[in-house]
Amino acid sequence: MAQFLLDHELPLRQYAFYGCLICLLFAEELFPKRRIHLAYKTRWTANFGLMLIYMALLRIAIPWVGIELAFKLQHLQIGLFNRVPMPKLAGLIMGILLLDGFRYALHRLSHKLDFLWRLHRVHHTDVDFDVSTSVRHHPAEVIVGTLSECLVIVIFGLSPESLLIWAMVGSTIDLFNHANLRLPLRLDRALRWLVVTPDIHRIHHSAYQAETDSNFSSFLSFWDKLFGSYRVQPESSHQSMKIGLEHWRQPAEQSIFSLLLNPFFSKKDLE
Ligand SMILES: [Zn+2]
Repeated sequence: MAQFLLDHELPLRQYAFYGCLICLLFAEELFPKRRIHLAYKTRWTANFGLMLIYMALLRIAIPWVGIELAFKLQHLQIGLFNRVPMPKLAGLIMGILLLDGFRYALHRLSHKLDFLWRLHRVHHTDVDFDVSTSVRHHPAEVIVGTLSECLVIVIFGLSPESLLIWAMVGSTIDLFNHANLRLPLRLDRALRWLVVTPDIHRIHHSAYQAETDSNFSSFLSFWDKLFGSYRVQPESSHQSMKIGLEHWRQPAEQSIFSLLLNPFFSKKDLE
């Protein structure tokens, strides 16, 4: 089974990602949580346009990233987990926890350090919140994030299996928790014990800074509870809360060209 997963890594990841994306686009149409304010044409061109740019850049700049790297490390016996004997399942679970914990820490740091915030705020400048917001990232942020994840993979010698499961499940949960989806309250309550739901992550996209500085987890929800950044509900309601950033709301700032240049502009938007 593990060998099958690893042999078909790329198509499996693509089927999971695009399959989930299409299902969520339909689900948002049927069960929307909020009204979308800005025209789809403007937002989707910017959000999916950025995705196409960083996907192409990743293939050109660091094609050896991820699973292939983990295979090489395993072969060369590099990294902590490749040196210390341990049960396969323990290595798998620790690998997933390390990658997800690292993403939580990097996300939190991205809201504190000016250099990282300039890149990350592109994700937060979306004045609406739907599944397309999930892929709205500045290409430089994706490159920085991927390279720093590689460092974790090398230091700990994470297995290809843990990487594949985390990449597949983590990216689909990330799509899901950005969806403009009205989930039954009981289902949301049950899911949020384990993973980040749209009602948790929407609060992180609030224009009210105390709320932006909460709910940093992207896959497993317990990081925020563990490190005191968990917020259960927004101050107002999910329907009326203001999404985006207070200083970046002009229509001209929402085009793909403006977003690519956004990190070079200065505004007092980080306290
Ligand atoms: Zn953020």
